[in-house]
Amino acid sequence: MVQRTLLQAFHWYYPGDGRLWPDIEEKAASLADMGVTDVWLPPVYKGAAGGQSVGYDVYDLFDLGEFDQKGGVPTKYGDRGALERAAHALEEKGIGVIYDVVFNHKMGADETERVQVHRVNPDNREEIDSETFEATAHTRFTFPGRQGRYSEFIWDAKCFSGVDRIEDPDENGIFKLVNAYDDGWSVEVGEEFGNFDYLMGSDIEFRNKAVYEELKHWGRWLMDELPSAGFRLDAVKHIPAWFFRDWIGHMRESAGKDLFVVAEYWLPDLDALRGYLDLVDHQLMLFDVALHYNFHDASKGGADYDLRTLFDGTLVGAMPEHAVTLVANHDTQPLQSLEAPVEPWFKPLAYALILLREQGVPCVFHPDLYGAKYTDKGGDGENHEIEMPAIACLPALIAARQRFAHGPQTDIFDDPNCIAFVRHGTTEAPGCVVVMTNAGEAAKSVELGQEMAGVAFRDFLGHRDDEVTTDEMGRAGFPVNAGSVSVWVRGDTL
Ligand code: CA
Repeated sequence: MVQRTLLQAFHWYYPGDGRLWPDIEEKAASLADMGVTDVWLPPVYKGAAGGQSVGYDVYDLFDLGEFDQKGGVPTKYGDRGALERAAHALEEKGIGVIYDVVFNHKMGADETERVQVHRVNPDNREEIDSETFEATAHTRFTFPGRQGRYSEFIWDAKCFSGVDRIEDPDENGIFKLVNAYDDGWSVEVGEEFGNFDYLMGSDIEFRNKAVYEELKHWGRWLMDELPSAGFRLDAVKHIPAWFFRDWIGHMRESAGKDLFVVAEYWLPDLDALRGYLDLVDHQLMLFDVALHYNFHDASKGGADYDLRTLFDGTLVGAMPEHAVTLVANHDTQPLQSLEAPVEPWFKPLAYALILLREQGVPCVFHPDLYGAKYTDKGGDGENHEIEMPAIACLPALIAARQRFAHGPQTDIFDDPNCIAFVRHGTTEAPGCVVVMTNAGEAAKSVELGQEMAGVAFRDFLGHRDDEVTTDEMGRAGFPVNAGSVSVWVRGDTL
């Protein structure tokens, strides 16, 4: 049985110059061989920063690097032809293509409009000034370079609920646009700052039926244009849940197949995630933010961290069928806004925990597989040179998921510094014994049962080169190096 394994195929500082799409095309075969089943692409459409844009500053959803807009034709990752070749290369290797859906806002308007606005208290967005006044806002998107191809929809102030910049009078802040839906912000959004509908840019007004239909049209169009296995939904706590409750069903119906959908609701709060899953009728999965923070804490804590608490408060612990587990992503990498990096020594342990256990769908981060080196300004305004080394054992861990992460699971979480779990295998596929420690070299005594008596095990990761043989009761002590992980598998399955 093939087990779903995602790769986030980009990071914030991936080089521009259209290198990503050809790179993905080239890597498709090796990713399939390794055991990656789905690839999450960065936003495939034109951002306000054109060829420099990572993609979250959406300008035109229909410009996949095809039109001369925002300073050129290609996106940061290449032109539309290169995107098509990459997506088809993945599909040919049996890899699903997951698209990043950034629906919360738009940026880089083509024209301004005179609009009526209310000032809003940024710290409590429920406090909307009752007074309205006229100002100029960047809210009109006509896409002159595209000339109505694929969609003739023109976005204007009626399509947005708020902006953070007005002119004449010139002010920065948060401004609620006066529109036909002017009974405050949308409901069914995050509760931080009173109401977290507004995040950035020109905030999309989902209560506008024409907007709603346009976003459905776009989803159907994308699936017609490119091979599609699903979506990654950006910033959903800023978008009314009722919108995706409908949109996902519509996409699945249009696709005529099941689609994999994972949403980014960035809050390490199980109750909030549960509440969101209820609101969207459990139609999607969520990234396990709490587990990511636990990995961060464990990597900082060293031997002071109690490994038995790693799954406390996590989505994968409480609702495993809805959890996409991760060790790092483009928002948590060094110099980014949600920076909470997991220290390199702990990453092999964290990846073993997401890749080899029964619960959750793991998502591997591009730099952890391929490495990354970049320079950017930090919060201190200084330039920082960052090197994220590739994790040497990660390809083996991804392969181990397909080869050995099978069958029932037994946890041996009996020591704060050394934990283990057993995958017992099935009649078709072998299992494994995973041992890890955040302290000195250790060993875990494991009982595998009499049917596993006298079996020789080797460490699939090669961190240990000794052999472990079970006794007549199927027992053995499985060793692990200091601050490391070993994946013990039957020697005769190698
Ligand atoms: Ca919003």
